[in-house]
Amino acid sequence: MRFIAATRLFDGKQFLDSDMVLVLGGESRLLNIVNRKDLDPGNIEHYDGIICPGFVNAHCHLELSYLKGEIEPRKGLIEFAKGIIGKRMLFSDQKINEAAIAADKEMWNNGIVAVGDISNVKNSFEIKKNSKLFYHTFIELIGLNPMHSEVVFTFGKDILNGLQAQNLKGSLTPHAPYSVSGNLMERISAEAKGVPTSIHNQESEEENNFFRDKTGGFADLYEFLKSPIEHFNATGRSSLRSYLQYLSKTENLILIHNTFSSQEDIAFANEFHKQLYWCLCPNANLYVENKLPNVKLMIRNNCRICIGTDSLASNHSLSIMDEMNVLFENLPELKLEEVLQWSTFNGAEALMINDSFGGFVKNKNAGLNLLNFKDRKVSLIQKLA
Ligand SMILES: [Zn+2]
Repeated sequence: MRFIAATRLFDGKQFLDSDMVLVLGGESRLLNIVNRKDLDPGNIEHYDGIICPGFVNAHCHLELSYLKGEIEPRKGLIEFAKGIIGKRMLFSDQKINEAAIAADKEMWNNGIVAVGDISNVKNSFEIKKNSKLFYHTFIELIGLNPMHSEVVFTFGKDILNGLQAQNLKGSLTPHAPYSVSGNLMERISAEAKGVPTSIHNQESEEENNFFRDKTGGFADLYEFLKSPIEHFNATGRSSLRSYLQYLSKTENLILIHNTFSSQEDIAFANEFHKQLYWCLCPNANLYVENKLPNVKLMIRNNCRICIGTDSLASNHSLSIMDEMNVLFENLPELKLEEVLQWSTFNGAEALMINDSFGGFVKNKNAGLNLLNFKDRKVSLIQKLA
């Protein structure tokens, strides 16, 4: 047994009384949290710093890790998408696999214990099976033509079956409002019972423009791709206010990015859907659009916020601490306590794994990170479990 104390203990939601001590058993499972007065002081390991549960990365694309440094930053989402399309055929399977293995290790070394990870193909499943990290894999579907919904759905379902056959957890998920028909969203939602879903939401203003009047960068992109869009109808409203009705209101929905979500969008969405999680990927937003989402607005609207790294195609690292630090840098009013909750408990709750991760969970090893917080910058001193 180990008895672990620190300058401060954060349990996923709040700081505990400084007299509390974590009692760990075999495999670093948490047995209890007790007051130090009930223990022999000689048995207590004391650490200078903050101990918190392992981080939860609510949004990643492990299979895109090979694109690190390949896409020019700050050119906007349309150019970013063109960059991905142009580069993705240029790499060998071996290079793709090696990059994903390294990315998995990088996350572990950065104190991450669980990941909500997007997959379009089966490439990363073997890595996930052998990983120390827990993965919830979102099998991502793309299909703007409603006539193709059933074919796309069946294709995704086959990949999901392959994932589950390896005892890995996952669910089907729509890619983005501009790339998935309402019809396909409804098909995915009908299947999503007791599992989370995610969607890239309002990552660019072009997305809102496409929904408002079917103009802008996405109309141009589909022309560039020679992909017909006559079945897509503009709604005169922002994207979020146009598509949310197609997704299940009774299951968790993780909205990723939200870089161009307005007060009206946020108020509407929170009123319409009670199981929403707002996932911030600030470094990726700076990489792609050179803009941060309006975090203050989300806080003011009581949004449940979680944090993701997105992929190495749009980020320099896979580190929740790097995401926290860019938030601390840009938002002086943010409190450590709230950002730590976004990085631990909220991510776990969004992925529906808070019975194992995101807190000091009895009989579980949810990871233990010893952190330093100095000059509003978080760093990892040591992984204790
Ligand atoms: Zn993404």
